[in-house]
Amino acid sequence: MKEKFRQFMTGRYGADQLSRFIMACGMVTLVCYMIFRGSLWYYLTLILLVWNYYRALSRNYEKRYQENLKFLSLKNQVLGLFRKNPAADKEHRIYRCPSCKQKVRVPRGKGKIAIVCPKCHKEFIRRS
Ligand SMILES: [Zn+2]
Repeated sequence: MKEKFRQFMTGRYGADQLSRFIMACGMVTLVCYMIFRGSLWYYLTLILLVWNYYRALSRNYEKRYQENLKFLSLKNQVLGLFRKNPAADKEHRIYRCPSCKQKVRVPRGKGKIAIVCPKCHKEFIRRS
């Protein structure tokens, strides 16, 4: 039985990050169905499960791989919205300590200032 299953799965795509995400969505819709009932949750769960099986059993490896890449870049974009972007910070400047290379963030527009490195405590002068 195990051998038969292995033969059946040979050359098929199997699981990836996107399929795990689809499964997670399917779990959520399944729980929603158990709580709220209603055919909407039922069909959503069904669609997600069928979609997941379709991808796992697909022999079109390249296409599934591309789908997964698209999913991963989309996921990174969404996660990026919640991350702080240092380039977008217009009120601060980043300097590197000349002796230990530690990054130091200082406020902009204060003229010449003496910066004390938080790591090695060396003082250096920069225009902010
Ligand atoms: Zn330093």
